[in-house]
Amino acid sequence: MTWTNETVRTYQEQVRHWTPGELLRWAWETWGDGLTLASSFGLEDVALIDMAARVFQPVDVFCLDTDLLFPETYRLMETLVQRYPIRLRRVRPRLTLEEQAAQEGPELWRRDPDRCCGLRKVEPLGRALAGYAAWVTGIRREQAPTRAHAEPLEWDARHNLVKLNPLAYWTTDAVWAYVRAEAVPYNPLHDRGYPSIGCWPCTRAVAPGEDPRAGRWSGFDKTECGIHGGPAR
Ligand code: SF4
Repeated sequence: MTWTNETVRTYQEQVRHWTPGELLRWAWETWGDGLTLASSFGLEDVALIDMAARVFQPVDVFCLDTDLLFPETYRLMETLVQRYPIRLRRVRPRLTLEEQAAQEGPELWRRDPDRCCGLRKVEPLGRALAGYAAWVTGIRREQAPTRAHAEPLEWDARHNLVKLNPLAYWTTDAVWAYVRAEAVPYNPLHDRGYPSIGCWPCTRAVAPGEDPRAGRWSGFDKTECGIHGGPAR
């Protein structure tokens, strides 16, 4: 079957009531090797890797490795590769950091984070998804107003493939409960005030009670890197 926006809509109501495990199993049976899981190794992502590995193996996982991730994130990546049957694709930007500095000037993220995300995340995402039929993400409605309408099953018109958000309706507490109950390895930065973790130049810890995504691109009117919509170019 060729999937389109219309076919996605016919399944949307049905799959909304499925558990993440049920959705992942159906996705694997439907798309097999055409299914890939996006991971920035945040809390939702490690939970999804654990859930996916219970229903199919190996799990095709890709990360957008901007060369600017925290050391803790790179270490977690290694831990997960050791523990789970995942086939990890580290998708890199076309420009090294040195080439980007020569072309765009130093520390582009300080001057134009949309441009920097465009070069280091959005363009690589297109390559990461090429040839795949469906991708899985850790998006949850609760994370941000820009994600408040996320559905477990969506059509990604920008990349022309199916997008699955198995945790769309999960709360932060529910994700933590799963990670703790199943002893899933997670980024130690979460315990040091970083609910949302991206590149080190654009991520800070947040104070108790502060918006969980306030630590991303602090000082800029920017809340998304552009890979799930938003302004990056
Ligand atoms: S999060 Fe920051 S450093 Fe990373 S790609 Fe975007 S602007 Fe650049």
